[in-house]
Amino acid sequence: MKKSQLEKFSALVLEKGVNLQPNQGLEISCPVERADFARIMSKVAYKMGAKLVRISYNDEIIDKLTYENAKTEVLTSVPKWFIDKKESLVKENFCYVCLSSENPSLFKNVSGEKLLAVSKARSKALKKYSDAIMSNQIRWCVVSLPTKDWAKQVFPTDKNAAKLLEDAILYTMRLNEIDPVKSWENHVELLNKRAKILNDNNFKYLHFTSNFGTDLKVGLSRNHVWISAEEKSADGVNFIANMPTEEIFTAPDCNNVEGVVFSAKPLSYNGQIIDNFSLTFKKGSVVSFTAEKGYDCLKNLINTDKGTKKLGEVALIDNSSPVGKCNILFYNTLFDENASCHLALGKGYPTTVKNGDKLSIKQLKQLGVNDSIEHVDFMIGFSDITCVGVKENGENLTLIKNGNWVI
Ligand code: ZN
Ligand code: ZN
Repeated sequence: MKKSQLEKFSALVLEKGVNLQPNQGLEISCPVERADFARIMSKVAYKMGAKLVRISYNDEIIDKLTYENAKTEVLTSVPKWFIDKKESLVKENFCYVCLSSENPSLFKNVSGEKLLAVSKARSKALKKYSDAIMSNQIRWCVVSLPTKDWAKQVFPTDKNAAKLLEDAILYTMRLNEIDPVKSWENHVELLNKRAKILNDNNFKYLHFTSNFGTDLKVGLSRNHVWISAEEKSADGVNFIANMPTEEIFTAPDCNNVEGVVFSAKPLSYNGQIIDNFSLTFKKGSVVSFTAEKGYDCLKNLINTDKGTKKLGEVALIDNSSPVGKCNILFYNTLFDENASCHLALGKGYPTTVKNGDKLSIKQLKQLGVNDSIEHVDFMIGFSDITCVGVKENGENLTLIKNGNWVI
């Protein structure tokens, strides 16, 4: 990628993504392979008046070696300095940019039990930090740029895999447009308009159906609020937590989900792939499931804790979004979730109920907002998916038909 493009990318993420304020700190987490990006973003951030830029590099080759060689009991003991470092972002009100560019199959030969034990230990140790992130205590933004192994998985037979993936990312980020900031503002406005219609209707539940077999009723939390691209952090400043983002999402009532749902795309979870799976829900909980690929990985995910058997998010997206139009399987949730309606197993966002950021976990639970150490999105938006919103009095409104918005 040209230097000028990386500068444009960085400026967009700092301006519209985390909305970096003068004299504020910024942390960038980034694969070491994309140090070029971290260096340019740091430069742009200092130009915008950042107080301090901190970099947190990760290296997948070493991660793989670590998982293959270090014992589970060593990996599950999360050092205090690691937790303190994460929590310091919240204490010092830093912005946080995360470059998510993992090789989706990195851990395909590592035992599922080991992966589960480590991710569980880390999620548990970082619960306070992730709760702060999910209730927007700080402004954060997840973005992506190609890495070699990831691009190879997306375009296995193409010599120009990295370039093709880069082009797709720039397109979905609206960076090819003359004024990307302006086109993000227009995009946010359109999503807000639809979110308002959803909020005004205050549906009791959503009914998803597709010819593939999905027939699922997702109850909505009392006091639920539909949220789209732009959110407000605790200090009242707007930000966009995912770029790209096409979704309008809210909190399901985690005790009121009934029926069966089929996955529409593979799910890359913990360096492993889960594909062609289905979940059956009763009274909100998964009571049975199937998977053609990655059955054990799905089983581990569902059994992580009480909350991973329930839903924490329902998101509506139509097929005509730039990500949908790309028609590429990215093997990265940041993109794939934006091509398709999705649900998430695990924790619900406190901000998806009225005044939720001021409520305790117990109060949120009473409203049906799920709690867990995990939050994992999976895609359910087949091209023929229909979603109907049903009100308390039985009135209904079709929201999505054949995969596209009709409101
Ligand atoms: Zn989502
Ligand atoms: Zn999610």
